[in-house]
Amino acid sequence: MDVVVIGAGVLGVTTAWYLRRDGHTVTVVDRAEGAGRETSFANGALLHASHAEPWNAPGVVWQLLRWLGREDSPLLLRPGQIPRVAGWGLAFLRNSTQARFARHTRINAALAVYSLQQLRALRAETGIRYDEAANGILKVFHDRAALDTVQAASQIMAPLGVRHEVLDRAATVAREPSLQETAEHLVGGIYYPDDESGDAQRFTERLAALAADRGVVFRYGTSVERLGVQGGRIDSVETDQGGLEPDAVVLAAGNDSRALARQAGLRLPIYPVKGYSVTLPAEGWAAAPAVPIIDDARKIVLTRIGDRIRIAGMAEFAGHDTTLHPRRAEAVLRQACSLYPSLTEHARGVTPDYWTGLRPMTPDGPPILGASAVSNLYLNTGPGHMGWTFACGCARLVADEVSGHPPAIALDGLGPRRMW
Ligand SMILES: Cc1cc2nc3c(=O)[nH]c(=O)nc-3n(C[C@H](O)[C@H](O)[C@H](O)COP(=O)(O)OP(=O)(O)OC[C@H]3O[C@@H](n4cnc5c(N)ncnc54)[C@H](O)[C@@H]3O)c2cc1C
Repeated sequence: MDVVVIGAGVLGVTTAWYLRRDGHTVTVVDRAEGAGRETSFANGALLHASHAEPWNAPGVVWQLLRWLGREDSPLLLRPGQIPRVAGWGLAFLRNSTQARFARHTRINAALAVYSLQQLRALRAETGIRYDEAANGILKVFHDRAALDTVQAASQIMAPLGVRHEVLDRAATVAREPSLQETAEHLVGGIYYPDDESGDAQRFTERLAALAADRGVVFRYGTSVERLGVQGGRIDSVETDQGGLEPDAVVLAAGNDSRALARQAGLRLPIYPVKGYSVTLPAEGWAAAPAVPIIDDARKIVLTRIGDRIRIAGMAEFAGHDTTLHPRRAEAVLRQACSLYPSLTEHARGVTPDYWTGLRPMTPDGPPILGASAVSNLYLNTGPGHMGWTFACGCARLVADEVSGHPPAIALDGLGPRRMW
């Protein structure tokens, strides 16, 4: 089949890779001048099945209220967005019951475990390098109740293959000795030995190059403007550089998937949740941790990627606005410095790279995958805070559906029909 993939982020490029392996003729269209230039550009770099729980845990509403209106809080709702986010927000809260949270955590965890298996297989097949590391991930806690809550979510995921070890303070510091700096404030940690890390953008760019070697055509600098629908199928993909008439289309356009799907009559409740990251050189910071850290209280992740340190966090409801607000970007770095005081001095002597990106988020948590009500339109979108982790699994499942292969894991709770 002749397939067009819209979007050369990590989801689109992995989809193109698997479609080509299945024998299809594949064209990837992206408005950017290369692969992985939007949300896949400078994310937290974690391949974290351990973080599969959606953001709407029971009780989330009280946490949101505590943070409301604070410019430096991990979550910020810009007042102008309230009418725009209302429908999505109500669905987000509706999904925060214990039963739904547990169900969506299980769906995400199964997908994440499968995705990491696919990533490892792809790595073994291609030898692709992306500053990858397989050191697990350590979540650290400053109060017992928070540790208990995350442990409960980890127990939901354990039967699906997400292994974890609960550690007391001494064992947490033994696992990652750099935490000694503020050890007296820690109550303990949870270590997830099977999680990994790596540079999503480097991976996306290099996989795109490998896919191009195998015949995938990349049309960069090309914006999709309209999806033409005739007789319940896409009959044309109109771009600013001319039209395409493929047999099938995979929509992997991140935060723009919603607007493009709307043209085909589909309603996808995807909201762009803004986050920030800071990247600095690791050299010169003696305490740079080897194991990626997730600080539950500060809502940041801190990851070593080769010779760099990446810190990411924040959730801002500001629509599609990608303005980098220095105060919020610096707050991410400040949070990391309060966990690692020695980072303060190091950061003063280097020039940090600040970045902001929009997580394409569904209100229930899992992404939206597979065949849609438009017969030749397939979706691979809405992965939220898990897109790098999910990429290879989502892509394999969508390529299987396009190719008519049975999926390796159940698609219940992942398909677009749950949204209609
Ligand atoms: C601060 C932050 C930290 C994160 N940390 C992690 C993490 O540690 N681990 C993890 O698993 N996930 C993480 N994520 C989430 C992850 O980065 C995203 O889920 C993932 O990058 C989404 O990939 P995508 O391919 O769906 O979207 P994108 O990477 O945004 O790709 C979509 C592509 O579609 C193109 N496009 C859109 N519209 C059009 C159009 N009309 N015509 C042509 N092209 C178009 C865009 O140019 C873009 O290249 C983080 C996100 C943020 C913001």
